[in-house]
Amino acid sequence: MVTTTVTTTFHNPSGERRREWQRATHLYRDTKQFCIDGWEADKFGMSVTTASIDNDLYSAIQNQAIREAKSDYKKDGIVEYHASQPFAVNNQNWEIDRTENGSIVVGFPCISGWWYTPIDVYDDIADDVARLVDGEADKSRLQVYRRGDDWFCTFTVEYDAEAGEETAIGVDIGHNHLLAADAETGESMLVSGREEKYVRRKYRSLRESLQQAGALRARNRVGDKEERRIRDCNHKASRRLIDWAQQFENPVLKIEDLEGIRDGSDWRGVHSWHFHQLQEFTVYKAEQAGIRVEEVDPFRTSQRCSACSAEGSRDGDYFSCSECDRGRHADLNAAENIRQREGEPCTA
Ligand SMILES: [Zn+2]
Repeated sequence: MVTTTVTTTFHNPSGERRREWQRATHLYRDTKQFCIDGWEADKFGMSVTTASIDNDLYSAIQNQAIREAKSDYKKDGIVEYHASQPFAVNNQNWEIDRTENGSIVVGFPCISGWWYTPIDVYDDIADDVARLVDGEADKSRLQVYRRGDDWFCTFTVEYDAEAGEETAIGVDIGHNHLLAADAETGESMLVSGREEKYVRRKYRSLRESLQQAGALRARNRVGDKEERRIRDCNHKASRRLIDWAQQFENPVLKIEDLEGIRDGSDWRGVHSWHFHQLQEFTVYKAEQAGIRVEEVDPFRTSQRCSACSAEGSRDGDYFSCSECDRGRHADLNAAENIRQREGEPCTA
């Protein structure tokens, strides 16, 4: 179970409402003091009911006042209440709801009636409030009180942590394909990187001919253009990956620790900055989307069979295992190995 406390302000309550809440605050304090004094003087027993309480508060609120007085009375020492006490209502006698225009209202009885009042929902409480409104969590009693000119409410939200199972996704960068991803649900995706390969080939031959002609400034300009186009490809590829990953429940991306250029890559001669950049873009786009990223040990992720861990063989795009007869796209086999490995937290 996860329990969090939500405290927020009521959004512009009317003067009439403030006056009623102010009155309820005093009556609530009076009700509790009445119980304490009665018990002290033996005027009535601990099983006092709302029938003995002579004021205008709704009985749900009087009941909560009696409950709180009882628990205070059991503690040591003299109990004396002050005017700044919050008034409260138990979990069954208040509501939280979303109106048609999307604002969140809290409804509870008070003196003259049951009122719904909008509350301010800031980012830090938005998820917990949504869970309650959508019926995915339980609420505690509601407390209402004033601080300065503002009126506040406080309640706790309780929900099952297990509702949020994570979906591990292994991501392989820069083998035959630019990107390969394998999710534990069985789905997978590939980004060919054809455009990136084409860009590299085109600019490499351009650079070589300019170098031979001794045109160094022109050669450097070509390098800048190439860099911009690769950057663009990396942005697109990482965007596609994140968009794809977001279809899963609580996705967690696992990527290889890419220190050093990878072995056995089909991207021979490519500088490692291409892959490092793609990895960087992937990590920061994931973080922006609220997706956790973990790094795993890259040892032999592309040589081992993802089903039985035996060494297999690769023929172009195809990986086959002689031990268990498994055959799969080589990059997806690698992505699956990465997905199955223990990860460490990673930040860009
Ligand atoms: Zn195998």
